[in-house]
Amino acid sequence: MAYLPLWREFQARLLCVRDRLPMACLMCRTRTPGGLCRYCRQAVCDSMASAQRRCERCDGLLASDSVHCADCPALTPALERVVAAFDYAWPGDLLIQRLKRRGQFSCVPVLAGLLAARCQAVRSLDAAAAPPLGVGAGAWVTAVPSSRRALVVRGYNPAGEVGRALARRLGLEWRPELLQRTRERAGQTALGREARRHAVRGLYRCTQAGVAGREVVVVDDVMTTGSTLSAVADVLKAQGAAKIWGVVLARTPQRSSG
Ligand SMILES: [Zn+2]
Ligand SMILES: [Zn+2]
Repeated sequence: MAYLPLWREFQARLLCVRDRLPMACLMCRTRTPGGLCRYCRQAVCDSMASAQRRCERCDGLLASDSVHCADCPALTPALERVVAAFDYAWPGDLLIQRLKRRGQFSCVPVLAGLLAARCQAVRSLDAAAAPPLGVGAGAWVTAVPSSRRALVVRGYNPAGEVGRALARRLGLEWRPELLQRTRERAGQTALGREARRHAVRGLYRCTQAGVAGREVVVVDDVMTTGSTLSAVADVLKAQGAAKIWGVVLARTPQRSSG
């Protein structure tokens, strides 16, 4: 499969061309390259660029005198790092809701672009010559699987759509079937930290060979307490994955202390 790196390079270059094509901004409809104008991009990503200190392990908001955020103690050590493109707040939440509730697929390349830029920024903080997130070229990208009910209602997995686009941008292999759910369960939006952790216990499995010794990037749409990413990372670690990164579109800042 010697042609695969070339194919990935070609796809990444195609995306660079797309990002330069003028089209209507997703938010304000101004003609702009790539589908999100400079002002709307700044508004969406302002949370990450603001003076508020961020946790270096999971991008959560920090209290003035702390090194790690309120979510970190509950995160599994199997997670190397969690990266978020923006806070789950206006106006970035609109882009996620348009993809999740209205099936607006034009949001996918824009959201994946924001996520890729955040991954690049984390790379450049660590070492200028390192790849995004510091992952190797053989790393796999996968997404947290949707429930069957959500798949039936939507017909797609929003995290999967963004994950596939992100893998193309990072030039990494996309592995959508790496994780499966073992059962259905009710939504956990209203649950607290402990209840969430209990709800996702044993919820995921990984049966694919080849994950041992592999670096894996797991994509999800929103991180609230990190219980889902922790459960997934534990499963991958148990299968022998070398390192696991969580990459999410948004963090919910209001739950960081809850
Ligand atoms: Zn705009
Ligand atoms: Zn943290």
